[in-house]
Amino acid sequence: MENSSFYREVVNDHNLRPTHKHELPDANMELRGVNPSCGDDITLRLKVRDGVIEDGAYTGDGCAISQASADMMLDLIIGRSADEAKRLSEIFLRMIKGRITDDELDELEEAGALIDISHMPARVKCAVLGWHTMENLLGENPEA
Ligand code: ZN
Repeated sequence: MENSSFYREVVNDHNLRPTHKHELPDANMELRGVNPSCGDDITLRLKVRDGVIEDGAYTGDGCAISQASADMMLDLIIGRSADEAKRLSEIFLRMIKGRITDDELDELEEAGALIDISHMPARVKCAVLGWHTMENLLGENPEA
């Protein structure tokens, strides 16, 4: 049960005290992501220059998991290259499907706490919303 209390703690903390939930006036990429099955609705903004994610933020509403997951994702990807962010997203999505190595789990840092979602099928779309939105956003901007 230690794992699931870690999970709850991390989700609550990022949901109640998000670091990256704000406007981002100098963003050069923006995409809205919606999960109708839960009502999660976020807008992700990134500032990407020379293939590096220099800053990022999100706004919107949704359940604790969707908001916390987006916040943890931004913790992880700000300062990294767009390619690296896409690679981490691929690892995160595999984690949610329950197929990940311990080394890969370490790479996800706090976002690894969401591994418990792999046992909660109803919450999967909440957990992956920010990550899918980020992948789509970077995919739409090939110069990133
Ligand atoms: Zn949700």
